[in-house]
Amino acid sequence: MSMRMDEVFETLRQYQEMLSKRVELEKQLEAMPKTIEIQNQMLSREKKSLAEVKEQYIFSEASLKDLRQQLEEAEIKRENAEKQMDGITTQREYDAVNKEIREASEKEQDLRRRIQEEERRFADVDDRMHRIEISVSALEAEINQKRNEIESNSKTISDEIENLHSEENSLTKELDDDLKFKFERIIRSKSGMGIVPIHGVVCTGCHMILPASFVNEVRQADKIVFCPYCSRILFYEETEADESMEEILTGSLVDLTEEEAEDTEDSENGEESEETSGRSKRGSSRKKKTPSEPVIDNDFLVDSMDE
Ligand SMILES: [Zn+2]
Repeated sequence: MSMRMDEVFETLRQYQEMLSKRVELEKQLEAMPKTIEIQNQMLSREKKSLAEVKEQYIFSEASLKDLRQQLEEAEIKRENAEKQMDGITTQREYDAVNKEIREASEKEQDLRRRIQEEERRFADVDDRMHRIEISVSALEAEINQKRNEIESNSKTISDEIENLHSEENSLTKELDDDLKFKFERIIRSKSGMGIVPIHGVVCTGCHMILPASFVNEVRQADKIVFCPYCSRILFYEETEADESMEEILTGSLVDLTEEEAEDTEDSENGEESEETSGRSKRGSSRKKKTPSEPVIDNDFLVDSMDE
């Protein structure tokens, strides 16, 4: 890498600002269609009710027509019977015609009552149908308006995102593509903080205590180092309490990592023929641990963070 490390860190900090802004905008953009989801659901419910009520309307309309038809027939029947009355000569004939008239009248009355009932039902259905129609068109208007708003806002946000993209690209021309990719994933999963200082031996991103040898690596600032716990990029920042704190923590931390190292060795001791010599080696290499010492794999962390 041709850049100096402090330049890389500074670039990453600026990149972080742009990325956070862009991530935020992308979230907004993604959330936008959801703002009309409720109205859309209401609309589909109203449309369903409208279809049902229309069915009732058609049914009621047909039965009204049928009842009126029947009434008309009953009236004609009664009128015809009444006309017959004039030519009647015997009691028997009279009784028969009279019965016919009475039955026709009863049927008429029954039909008139049923027609009234059906008319009430029809008026009710008609009223309901109109109310739902009004609600449907109000919802449709609201959705259309919102959709237009979303479209124009989305356009504005998309433009901003595009601008940020090109700013990012010119800022990070000299950064490694893999580093950029990782950094963006860290920013996305760690709410905007992808590069954090170490204070003493503590990662200020996740507040975990880091192995002293690891802290030294960060201090040397000759390569990009990721926090083994939270995957953020680390840089060293001097604080007043550093010296004493580091002294206190260094001893216990070395012990801790040694124990961990022993555990991993035990599990794969097949090829460790140098079990005893390894022990003495470890003792002498306290101050010079290999970079892979913190057991967690950065790549794995970064890749699995979204889950
Ligand atoms: Zn961390």
